[in-house]
Amino acid sequence: MPAYYPHPAAANYSSPPAHNQKQRGYRICDQCGQEESPAVRFRLCGGCMVTQYCSQECQKIHWPHHKPICQHTTAQVSSAINYSNDENIAKNLRKFCSQHTSLLSWVGFQALQLRRLPSNIRQHALVIDLAPRSGADSHRRFSVVSTRKVKRNYIGDPLVLADIQRRDDRCRHSGGIGCLVVLVQCDGISQVMPIEVDPPSKISWDTRDDWPSVLDHYVESGRSDFQPITTTARGIYYG
Ligand SMILES: [Zn+2]
Ligand SMILES: [Zn+2]
Repeated sequence: MPAYYPHPAAANYSSPPAHNQKQRGYRICDQCGQEESPAVRFRLCGGCMVTQYCSQECQKIHWPHHKPICQHTTAQVSSAINYSNDENIAKNLRKFCSQHTSLLSWVGFQALQLRRLPSNIRQHALVIDLAPRSGADSHRRFSVVSTRKVKRNYIGDPLVLADIQRRDDRCRHSGGIGCLVVLVQCDGISQVMPIEVDPPSKISWDTRDDWPSVLDHYVESGRSDFQPITTTARGIYYG
């Protein structure tokens, strides 16, 4: 069983039901469905660095189910490392996703126009292409090269698709609109971020067309303190 990785994960991120309650969204234990709270900080599976759990018990129980996708993800990264001959990119990509979870979730929500067209979540995914930035500090290892909307079947990997389908079903079962897919790519390595999304009526985020420049700004400056932009009585602000 892989070790824990004590950082917030990119997966299972759900949008906050109300701005003042859970501004950064919450994460769901992949075994028991419990939401992360300040009292129970979740940990990330150290193998795939995607799935997360509320406790060691839940990770143990879930391991037989999780093992195939976990080992598959790890193997993909290993072959990508051999191919690109860069051992750091795969790991840094995962750290990048973890560091920018809120930002990437919000960007995916905007790019797919989920407030206006929630059904887009089933048909499309957002690809974010990155380039490594040499000599930069650990919070600024990548630059955004481009973003593009693709059909969901762009993901050809059956195991990854099955994992997304499982999250889709779980999310809809609990009243959400499904699993938003954001793919973060660099040098032939791809990190899939599955994000379970609440119905738009529960999300207070404004619709914003300037999400590409917001993304660029936070990635370029290495800031990980992004908060979804919400219009308040005082006007628009960047949390
Ligand atoms: Zn749990
Ligand atoms: Zn794993």
